[in-house]
Formats: sequence, C-alpha cells, structure tokens
Amino acid sequence: MSDLHFDNRFVRELPGDPSRENVVRQVHGALWSPVEPDPVAAPRVLAVSREMLETLGLDASDAATPEFAAIFGGNALLTGMQPYASNYGGHQFGHWAGQLGDGRAITLGETVNKAGERWELQLKGAGRTPYSRTADGRAVLRSSIREFLCSEAMHHLGVPTTRALSLVATGEDVVRDMFYDGHAAPEPGAVVCRVAPSFIRFGHFELPASRGDIDLLRQLVEFCIRRDFPHLDPDAPDVVSSWFGEICERTAVMIGHWMRVGFVHGVMNTDNMSILGLTIDYGPYGWIDNYDPDWTPNTTDAQRRRYRFGQQPAVAYWNLGRLASALAAMDPDVAPLQAGLARYVDAYERTERDNAVGKLGLGEFREGDLDLVDSLQQWMRETEVDITLFFRGLIDVDPVSPDLAPLDNAYYDDAKREAGLPALREWLARYAARLADGPSPEQRREQMRRANPRYVPRNYVVQQVIDRATAGDASGIEELLDVMRHPYDDQPGREAFAQRRPDWARHKAGCSMLSCSS
Ligand code: AMP
Ligand code: MG
Repeated sequence: MSDLHFDNRFVRELPGDPSRENVVRQVHGALWSPVEPDPVAAPRVLAVSREMLETLGLDASDAATPEFAAIFGGNALLTGMQPYASNYGGHQFGHWAGQLGDGRAITLGETVNKAGERWELQLKGAGRTPYSRTADGRAVLRSSIREFLCSEAMHHLGVPTTRALSLVATGEDVVRDMFYDGHAAPEPGAVVCRVAPSFIRFGHFELPASRGDIDLLRQLVEFCIRRDFPHLDPDAPDVVSSWFGEICERTAVMIGHWMRVGFVHGVMNTDNMSILGLTIDYGPYGWIDNYDPDWTPNTTDAQRRRYRFGQQPAVAYWNLGRLASALAAMDPDVAPLQAGLARYVDAYERTERDNAVGKLGLGEFREGDLDLVDSLQQWMRETEVDITLFFRGLIDVDPVSPDLAPLDNAYYDDAKREAGLPALREWLARYAARLADGPSPEQRREQMRRANPRYVPRNYVVQQVIDRATAGDASGIEELLDVMRHPYDDQPGREAFAQRRPDWARHKAGCSMLSCSS
C-alpha cells in the first residue's frame, strides 16, 4: 500500500474552504472543504475489483490486509492522502437546486500510477461533510453493492464510467425509509471506494456561475483543462471552445453506449453528469428488460418520467445546455458554446449509426439503416421483447430462411409473440434484403457479437446478489462480477445469469423499481 503515490492537484491548485469545521453550511469562494472520513465500527472487505487493484499497482494480498479494510472503510489514511469534500450545485429534475456538494463522498487523494495515470480515490458513504444538508453521510449495503457491481460491469461492457475499487461493510446500521412511506428501518451500511481520473461534474461549474463568482468559475475551467484535458493547449485562444466541444462529444458517446446496452441512469441531474463523459453516481439505475423507451426504474420519477430510457439523449443535451449557460458567464460570445452543442448532435447521430450497424451486423452504414432499426424497435416495444436476449438470438437467425427458434426465450408474453410474428417475418425480409450485398454471414455475426452483450447485470440478478449478501453470504458479488468480466462471450454453465426477468421480479422493489433512498 505504501506503493501508492499521491499528487493532490485539486486541493493544491484550487481554493479551499478556510474552515475545518464539519458543520453543514453554504461554502462560498471555495471548491472544496477539508473533511476526514468518519470511522466505522468494524470495516470488512466484501469485494474488490482485481483490475482496479492492478491499475493502481496493488494486488490481492494488499486487499486482504486489515490496513486495506481500515483505509477503504474510512478508519485510516495513508501518508499523502488529503481528504476533502467538493462543492458543486446542480439542476435536479429540471430545477436549479443551489449548492449540493459531496454530502457523503470524501475524496482521499489523487494517486499517480506507474504508467503516469492519475486516479482519484473517493469513498462514498464515509460520513457527514459540510454538504450533507439534513442527511447522514452514509450509504446502505444494497445501494453500495449496486454501485460497485455496475461500475465494473459498465467498464467491461465498454461504457465510459467511474470505477470501483472496493466494497467494505461498515458493521454499522443505517436507517432508511426505502419506500418513503414512513417505515424507516435499520439496514447494514457500506462504503464503496470509487475511482476516476476526475470527479468534476457539470454542477461544479454551475454553482460559481449561479453566484456570479466568475473568478472562481474561471479558475475551475482552467484547472479542469490543465488536469483533465492535458491534450488541449491551455494557451490557445479558443481553448474553452475546444474543451466544451469535447465534453459534448464525450457525453454523446456515453449516451450512445447506454442506448446500445439498455442502461437507464435514472437520475440525470446535472450534478450527476461527469465532465469526462463518464457514467457517474449509480443510484436508482436499471437495465431495460423488455424493450420500452418509456421505462424508468426511479420511483421518484415515475409520474413525469423525465429520465426514462428513450429520453436520455435529449436530457443529456439539455444538461449540456445548462453547462453552456454557466460557461457563458465568462464570455458573452456564445457562438462557440452553440458550436459545442451542435457537436453533441453530430456525435450522437454517429453513435446511432454505429449502434444500428453493430447491433444488426450491417458492415457499414447505409441510408435507410436507421429506419430498419426504428421499425424493429417499434416491433420490440409492441411485442414485449427482451432487448438483450433478442439481439443475441438474432445472431443465430438466418434472415434468408428464418428458423426463429433462437429468439424463443426473448418474449415476455405469448399472445403478443403470436400477434407479432407476421411483422417480424416482414422485418426479417427487409433485413435479408439489406444484407444481400453486405457483409458475409460470419462477419455479420462477429460484428453483432461485439455490439450486443450476452450478459448485463440485470436488475433482478443484482437484487438476488443483494438478498444473499444481506443474509450474510457476500460471495455472489464477485461471482457476478466474474460473469461481467466477459459480457460479450457465451459462458457455458453461466446461462442462469442471462435469463429474462422472471414474473416474480416484474414489480418487485429492487428488480423493477427503485427509490432514491440509498
Ligand atoms: P444523488 O441523488 O445521490 O446524486 O445526491 C444528490 C445530493 O444529495 C448530493 O449532494 C449528495 O451528496 C447528497 N446526498 C445523497 N444521499 C446523502 C446522504 N445519505 N448523506 C448526505 N448527503 C447525501
Ligand atoms: Mg449525485
């Protein structure tokens, strides 16, 4: 562990809160407040990511030490760590919410590994900070398992994401009202160590802009360009414009991946948008089972469904608009910001084309391919078809003489399946025509295998892991993580992880709906 070297640029180069008092307050003129993790009763490592250990220059023997549990449970610090909570604001569900900040996340420090990569280590659930408002600064085991597993699964799926190093049980209970129905109950607590090159969010820029603190805003922009976008020339006259354009493009790429794999973030507030275009803040997220663009797992959003699956590309654009408005406070010329937003639109269209080509194995994009995808998606929606099983099954369907058996396990409703058959055959005929002078069957299948995961961490599968862990057996966490290491491979013997959502899970909490209570 002494191999970890720290170079804490965020706290070194940006203004901090002069007060060390850990009391809830508005923090002006500063981007962070010094605060130490609050020790826990009995830290115990439940799971680690061996890939992340390796990236940081650690190994399994480090993770097995009591020191590791102490550090990543929040009971000890390594030399060189300078813990802090950062200060940001955000638009929540479309409304400006003012100062939010890291209310339960505490960054330990920025490590630089042997390859020269910078990785910020951040504990989530490490206790109260000046930004905790009325909450307790803690996290429950169930939501921590979800964050740990999904961050690493997304990485293996090829989706830009923050990572997770460790999941540590605290040995303390946390009280939560899971359904917001007045029945608060104690649950086991946990701390996740998440890892990313940067945890800067759109909301970090919005807060100083909202307060008219242009000087602080400018310092943060310059810092972010220097540290997180080192390939940009910080002295170029149009650097802010290239930087914002790149943020737009990265955001588009991230959303394109979400749409490809069927991921619904659930709470796309601007405080949950990473400046690096990483998926960040795994809360009431979920995975599409039957293809339904109107679906959201977040019960808090069940009425308006602002953050439903099909709305994510538009919401990301809206969020970038909020970031642009904040940046406009520095410079009245908004043309470069508008150009950045246009870059989002272009980049997202590219991801749509790539997804169409990849998911259907079309070789190269042609005019009309988006229509082909659209009509398939419409059919999938009407027919209640499992998105993951359908596309994997389609790999084994020969569109010319269709034997539809490979699709058998993708349906949720027999009557709808029967009703949908003629339309499916029609669509397959169009698909066959498109493929006629396209890629070879083997090329098609190979391309599809790379774009369509066999395994995603399905909501009900993760819930089963959580139920087991809550009952004392945490081994399911690394078991599922191991399946998710190779999400595009068929893994004989592990078919159980790829089954469609069973009926009992359709309306069960944790499997189809989640509250923000975490
Ligand atoms: P989220 O919806 O998880 O993105 O959180 C929104 C804001 O609430 C952030 O400022 C969080 O730090 C804060 N927050 C959420 N849960 C807690 C908690 N248990 N204790 C303190 N702050 C929290
Ligand atoms: Mg958040």
